[in-house]
Amino acid sequence: MLSEFDLIKRYFAQHHIQDSRVALGIGDDCALLNPSPGMQMAISSDMLVSGRHFFPDAAPRMLGHKCLAVNLSDLAAMGAKPIAFTLALSLPEANPAWLAEFSAGLLALADEHQCHLIGGDTTKGPLNICITIFGELPPGTALRRDAARSGDDIWVSGSLGDARLALAAYWNEVSLDPQVHQQAALRMHTPSPRIALGMALRGIAHAALDISDGLAGDLGHILDKSGVGATLLIDQLPAGPVLQTQPQDLRRQFTLNGGDDYELCFTAAVSNRQQILAAATQSNTVVTRIGQIDSASGLRLLDDEGKDLHLAYQSFDHFVNP
Ligand code: ADP
Ligand code: MG
Repeated sequence: MLSEFDLIKRYFAQHHIQDSRVALGIGDDCALLNPSPGMQMAISSDMLVSGRHFFPDAAPRMLGHKCLAVNLSDLAAMGAKPIAFTLALSLPEANPAWLAEFSAGLLALADEHQCHLIGGDTTKGPLNICITIFGELPPGTALRRDAARSGDDIWVSGSLGDARLALAAYWNEVSLDPQVHQQAALRMHTPSPRIALGMALRGIAHAALDISDGLAGDLGHILDKSGVGATLLIDQLPAGPVLQTQPQDLRRQFTLNGGDDYELCFTAAVSNRQQILAAATQSNTVVTRIGQIDSASGLRLLDDEGKDLHLAYQSFDHFVNP
């Protein structure tokens, strides 16, 4: 039987962390961080609950990736550079095969972003994974939700809707070829946090957030906080490679309302278009211009002919949906 301490040591304690920003990692009562001189810290937590955010039998390697990816995505949305994270884990049992896979997925993504696991807590209970992440950025450069201005372009990174399409296929709302379904499901299980893009947008973009619950609903947060409205060009929304092959109505719905995309939605002055495209190139990320911030409140949806569309665009809400 694996003791709690053996479990931590075997699966989560990383080898000596070589990063001057981490003074002390796992093993004491607290970890100790030294953010780079003059930097401000960005901190965020996300909890993933079995049966609510992922299937109880989810592949553990992808689950490890995803629970860190959603936290990294929050740093990306502020323009912050990752430093470290803590992991609070509630596990029904100490299953070595599951733990080996889960920690491999988690720590591979951590390495990729030089984001170090510095502590946490482990307890027996229903499967529940909570990560708190720490990042840094120069004071005054964070990409905040309240910073959109009337006349700004609205941009989105990558593509939207494949994760939602995969979910629709699991729920038998649509039928997909198994191979195609798998391709879409990869988007759902292994999102790519847009850290490099977020950092490159500092000082160029105004407002930003990451899309977790669906573009329309999440953009609504920027509009609320900034006291503005927006017009989206619904047929300009970049559908994921799998969703692109689906009928127009589904494309529109899932690019607009699909959750789990973890792309960045951001706004920037029209005069900064070239700089935004340069930031995208520099960070090896595709970006698409999808609309405009307006002074009139509310969200308007125009099709390619300029016709106003009245689609339902409520975002997924954990307390409304079953
Ligand atoms: P405490 O009794 O102070 O809560 P623990 O015995 O829970 O300490 O943890 C011992 C050390 O292991 C601490 O440094 C803690 O941060 C770390 N730790 C516990 N669980 C995890 C985990 N799931 N991942 C990473 N570090 C962990
Ligand atoms: Mg503890």
